[in-house]
Amino acid sequence: MITPNMHYDDLKDSYLFYNIAQKTKAYLEANPGKYLYRMGIGDVSLPLCEAVIAALHEAVDDQSKKNTFHGYMPECGAPFLREAIAKYYAEKGVSLSSDEVFVSSGASDELGDILDLFERSSSALVIEPAYPAYVDANVMAGRNIIHLASGKENQFLPEPDDHLKADILYICSPNNPTGAVFSKTQLQKWVDYANQNGSIILFDAAYEAFIEEESLPHSIFEIEGARTCAIEICSLSKTAGFTGTRLGYTVIPKELVRNGMNLNAMWVRNRTTKTNGVSYIIQKGGAAVFTPEGQKQVKQNIQIYKNNAKMLMEALDQLGIWYCGGKNAPYIWMKCPGGMGSWEFFDYLLNEIQVVGTPGEGFGACGEGYFRFSTFGSPEDTKEAARCLVQLFKKQ
Ligand code: PLP
Repeated sequence: MITPNMHYDDLKDSYLFYNIAQKTKAYLEANPGKYLYRMGIGDVSLPLCEAVIAALHEAVDDQSKKNTFHGYMPECGAPFLREAIAKYYAEKGVSLSSDEVFVSSGASDELGDILDLFERSSSALVIEPAYPAYVDANVMAGRNIIHLASGKENQFLPEPDDHLKADILYICSPNNPTGAVFSKTQLQKWVDYANQNGSIILFDAAYEAFIEEESLPHSIFEIEGARTCAIEICSLSKTAGFTGTRLGYTVIPKELVRNGMNLNAMWVRNRTTKTNGVSYIIQKGGAAVFTPEGQKQVKQNIQIYKNNAKMLMEALDQLGIWYCGGKNAPYIWMKCPGGMGSWEFFDYLLNEIQVVGTPGEGFGACGEGYFRFSTFGSPEDTKEAARCLVQLFKKQ
């Protein structure tokens, strides 16, 4: 009899969003007609921008004519999109060749697939609180996981230390869920650590477009030495509203070599075996994001989410509640007031002001006592949620 991958048995139930859905459903059943302010969602609420929609329509029309029709696309991405992304990096001062850019169907797919490049005996370090997929993808492969807890004392931006021994290092900056962003100096320490130890950094830059402080790095490749120790995984989901359209990209420099194996060449071999490329239509839509018009429009949408963040931050400032994030990231990570636990606070907000957020404990044990607000909701709901928060805690 075949033995399935028994490591699936080691996965913890993904109870976080299930629990939230159950609790909100029960609340609505008990309180029919009540409106919920959903500040927990990680999905975007604004539609695709006009430049993308126009490009998608055009690409559909291309597929209707013999001379512009596209069948299978190159597995690693269409040259027009790989070049547009390399140019986008060049504008940030990062020089890449287009064959170091791989087009993907999104960061989630890629975060799972990229692990094909590493032995199952390699260990993975996850800085917590963390996006849950990092841990789960490695549990499925049976890898040893090192959980590095971060906290308020280091602003949720821990540094490597000599006792740590890990092969794969996950760094997410701007971070989901904490909204914290590593500075160039802090990232330099991780890059130096990776180069000294022969580790590889998997840098998740899904939220780079939300950085507004000029000194903060958008890419790990802004850091000296990163080309010999890092892979960057990025997504158009939050940058440009592609959560349902699906498009991302991954950068693997040609200098990334371990044990005589070139990881860029390995990934070409992987992609040409395991995918037949991302659809022409979607790649055309994605390329429009990198045009001047597309950049202008996606930035306008990001600004709407940033205004949401501002409303929530002002409310927390007024109440004197500790938080990080919000300024350079679409998430606000706050300390639950009055020593409340994450789920206790969740229930309290739901019952008192019908605001739904995400309990920090769901992102790792060190998230207990914290709470995440997403800024991807509507401005109207966010404004009302911020007002209710102030009213609720001012009374106390
Ligand atoms: N990485 C982080 C940190 C995320 O928060 C998310 C989505 O919420 C992803 C990756 C997945 O992005 P995608 O929609 O491209 O799969």
